[in-house]
Amino acid sequence: MNSVIVNNLRFNLYLRHEEVIASIEKLALQLNKDLKDKDPLFIVVLNGAFVFASELITRFEGNCDVTFVRLASYEGTESTNSVRELMNLTENVENRTVVIVEDIIDTGLTILMAKDKIKAAGATDVYIATLLYKPKAFKHNYYIHYVGVEIPNDFIVGFGLDFDGKGRNLRDIYKIAE
Ligand code: 5GP
Repeated sequence: MNSVIVNNLRFNLYLRHEEVIASIEKLALQLNKDLKDKDPLFIVVLNGAFVFASELITRFEGNCDVTFVRLASYEGTESTNSVRELMNLTENVENRTVVIVEDIIDTGLTILMAKDKIKAAGATDVYIATLLYKPKAFKHNYYIHYVGVEIPNDFIVGFGLDFDGKGRNLRDIYKIAE
């Protein structure tokens, strides 16, 4: 489909499923090279990262654990500049190599908060893997280790990402129409 309507807004095709998968395959190669023997704990940021996480983690070839946190910073198509923690970290991260798995980094606030918390809880190393990254929106200066695709500063849906709850099931990624 070249365009879709989600909650009454039109979105145009931006990245085909196959392109998204190709970028995840590249990330998985890097992860396998860097962390195969580190028994990492993948911490998946719900809700949006669930599709990306399943594609990425099933390509990881070493031992690993997987757990989930739920954070929210967006309302509609806008960042709220505050992060709500809807589901806390339950896993012990002490002395672990952690990979935070996120769908998209925009201002960077969500991952800043998650990263600092996980470090404070005693993780040895904290790596960040994001499917999408908006460099023009990023307001912080920490390093993002694994980036799938850099995108412009537009609101997108699909492949796990929503607009007010809808659109997560779209196979491709769509960008809001002008
Ligand atoms: P940040 O804290 O980096 O500003 O925002 C990250 C979070 O905002 C993501 O986890 C995601 O939930 C949401 N977000 C940021 N940009 C977009 C976007 O273009 N589309 C969707 N659906 N969510 C976004």
